[in-house]
Amino acid sequence: MSKKPSVAIIGAGLTGLSAGYFLQKEGVEAQIFEASGRMGGAITTQREGDYLFEQGPSTLLRGSPVLETLLRELDLAKDLTPPNPKAKKRFVVRGGKPVALPGGPLAFPFSPWLSWKGKLRLLTEPFRKRGAATKSETVANFAQRRLGREVLDYGVNPFVGGIYAGDPKKLAVALAFPTLVEAEEKGGSLFRGFLKLAKEKKKARGGAPRPPKGTVSFASGLEKLPQALAKALHRQPLLNSPLQKAEPTEDGHWRLTFAGGEQKVFEQILLTTWSDELAAALPAPPDRESWPHIDYAPVQVITLTYPREAVEHALDGFGVLVPEIENLPFLGVIFASSLFSERAPSGEVLLNLFVGGKRHPEKASFNEAQVRREILPAVAKLLSITEQPKFYAARHWPQAIPQYTLDHQSFLLARHGAEKNWPGFFLAGNMVDGISMPQCLESGHQAAQKIRSSLKTPTKS
Ligand SMILES: Cc1cc2nc3c(=O)[nH]c(=O)nc-3n(C[C@H](O)[C@H](O)[C@H](O)COP(=O)(O)OP(=O)(O)OC[C@H]3O[C@@H](n4cnc5c(N)ncnc54)[C@H](O)[C@@H]3O)c2cc1C
Repeated sequence: MSKKPSVAIIGAGLTGLSAGYFLQKEGVEAQIFEASGRMGGAITTQREGDYLFEQGPSTLLRGSPVLETLLRELDLAKDLTPPNPKAKKRFVVRGGKPVALPGGPLAFPFSPWLSWKGKLRLLTEPFRKRGAATKSETVANFAQRRLGREVLDYGVNPFVGGIYAGDPKKLAVALAFPTLVEAEEKGGSLFRGFLKLAKEKKKARGGAPRPPKGTVSFASGLEKLPQALAKALHRQPLLNSPLQKAEPTEDGHWRLTFAGGEQKVFEQILLTTWSDELAAALPAPPDRESWPHIDYAPVQVITLTYPREAVEHALDGFGVLVPEIENLPFLGVIFASSLFSERAPSGEVLLNLFVGGKRHPEKASFNEAQVRREILPAVAKLLSITEQPKFYAARHWPQAIPQYTLDHQSFLLARHGAEKNWPGFFLAGNMVDGISMPQCLESGHQAAQKIRSSLKTPTKS
């Protein structure tokens, strides 16, 4: 009987669980080690009394091949909850008020989102000459060059705050929004480029139907997805098992040391999490003295509920994002109970407030008294809320979102060097392959394929 390959996956977030699942499909039963006492990583659904709320990601974007495969194979499609069609609007703060983004070309001319000058500038995008988006161009520079200053301030800036909790002046457009760069390269303008990309996608699909689109959740919240992945694994992740050190052995394996000093040797190791401490506990990558630092944005997610009549705003949308130029002490609010039913009892509304990010990193660690004193009055003014919240819950993420800054390229190069030069070492997850949940699933899937093809021992005993 041949020896079974041994693979360790560090982290039972979406990336680690996805890698474990796809390796298992290939006949490789990896062992997942998780530092905390639960699975799911950033995905944190909570139920308290009649409230169901997310303290990490709020919505899942459909359409990526790996996500669609998992929804099918794990029989999850039936549990998906589409957003309420009445909650389609997306608001951005302008002049201290929530302003709905235009829902289509007919609404665009009349929308107060942009001035006439800003609208004209945006409409001339197809006629602007092709620029040279380089690896050193920031998101802000790209947006201003192609779309104009006003779209940067009232469109791109709040959007980047909502997705990356980041600063468009620091993020590299080629890393944070590669499709924008590709569109400009292909079409000379974003307008023509996106048309070309859509045509190419259609051609690549052949006659196959379009993949489903749009944001969704599950009736019981997003944790359903990591739970279903974990349930499908034959070998359960080991919880409360933080990796403390990883070192290569002389015979080409990896010796892992866990808290408490326990050591285990594996043929392959996949890291799906990152921190300066972990970086210091790994050998320095080839040709470097140490691992390059990854800059993370800290975020606090605060769940608030109110009686419906205490909120004058109709909350008839997804939520509201705050442009930096509006100088408010938070990044945005998701109207969670408008978006998905059953999040709060009828007669009440449930909001998710996002605080901190690169804009106000210090506010991400505010305590409840500070939030109530310095942040909630601004939320109340924006949405015309007349009462104090009935329910309050908060979750602080010191390392919420990795920032794909101009310097991040050096981390990607170090990862590439390590994977190329160190047999059996792999890195996947939101620090390298995209920050969204579908991208993390794809990242886990790709890592599983790389591991499978590099295994020395056969997969079947
Ligand atoms: C507040 C917030 C809002 C977000 N909103 C959205 C959204 O709406 N839509 C979307 O698509 N994405 C969103 N994201 C991003 C997305 O949720 C994450 O990028 C994704 O879930 C990360 O998955 P992961 O497995 O790569 O990492 P993680 O989920 O971070 O998992 C890593 C795991 O590794 C464990 N770990 C850490 N150190 C060790 C160690 N030494 N040993 C063993 N285990 C260790 C951790 O405990 C954790 O469980 C959001 C993220 C946050 C924080």
